[in-house]
Amino acid sequence: MSGLRREGECVSCGECCRTLRITGILTNIVAQHGSLESARAYYSYRGIKITDVSRELNAVGLEMNIPCDKLTKDNRCALHPDSKPLICDRYPQFPDDIETCGYSFK
Ligand code: SF4
Ligand code: SF4
Repeated sequence: MSGLRREGECVSCGECCRTLRITGILTNIVAQHGSLESARAYYSYRGIKITDVSRELNAVGLEMNIPCDKLTKDNRCALHPDSKPLICDRYPQFPDDIETCGYSFK
């Protein structure tokens, strides 16, 4: 998706399971809130952070501190490997801002 090659492996830091990340449509968000700045303020009041904005992809990255209840105390996925959601199985598909992640992109 990013055109970059993924290297490394999961080191079970668990960070990608502690926050929920979703992608919003930039033009829809601006239409709803009047401006990106207004959306950013409103989301912040609700504990939602805008992490990335891509005008090229018309996309906004949104992050919420909502841990997954399938994450075990030793940072394992209780659903792995048979019924893990597809998005978890593929993670990460592009560079993220999790410093402890064992994956990198070149
Ligand atoms: S389902 Fe498993 S891999 Fe996906 S977020 Fe939850 S604990 Fe993490
Ligand atoms: S952030 Fe990376 S290393 Fe940590 S659990 Fe998720 S995939 Fe594994």
